Amino acid sequence: MSTPPKPVPVPDALSEEFWAATAEHRLAMQQCRSCGWLAYPPRTSCVSCRADPPAFRWSPVSGRGRVQTWTVVRTAFLPGFAADVPYVVADIELEEQPRLRMAAGLRGIERDAIEIGMPVQVAFEDMEGGVSIPYFVPRGP
Ligand SMILES: [Zn+2]
Repeated sequence: MSTPPKPVPVPDALSEEFWAATAEHRLAMQQCRSCGWLAYPPRTSCVSCRADPPAFRWSPVSGRGRVQTWTVVRTAFLPGFAADVPYVVADIELEEQPRLRMAAGLRGIERDAIEIGMPVQVAFEDMEGGVSIPYFVPRGP
């Protein structure tokens, strides 16, 4: 019996630059041209300064951050994830801006070794169709 494929993100007008960057194993975020605020997930307007008209550019970010919280997924809600459970999903605050947070997989560490505040670095998993999914791994301080 073959494993069903995992669903892959389908970039849309709002997220296509994000996915174009991850395909090159880079992390990029929308940045407000008026106030410099970084947005994730992609938005149609700046929630910091509410610039009118809203204008974002895409800026590279380091992919370095710290674990804010994390959880263990024990049930595969989609068949494509059945071989992965249990796995860890973490809420990562990126170092470029307070509260710039990204939920993603956390790999490369035993669950009892995960600590709130531990430093992590983004990595990428290449999927079918040229899409690459960001996840995080531990890094030195
Ligand atoms: Zn702004």
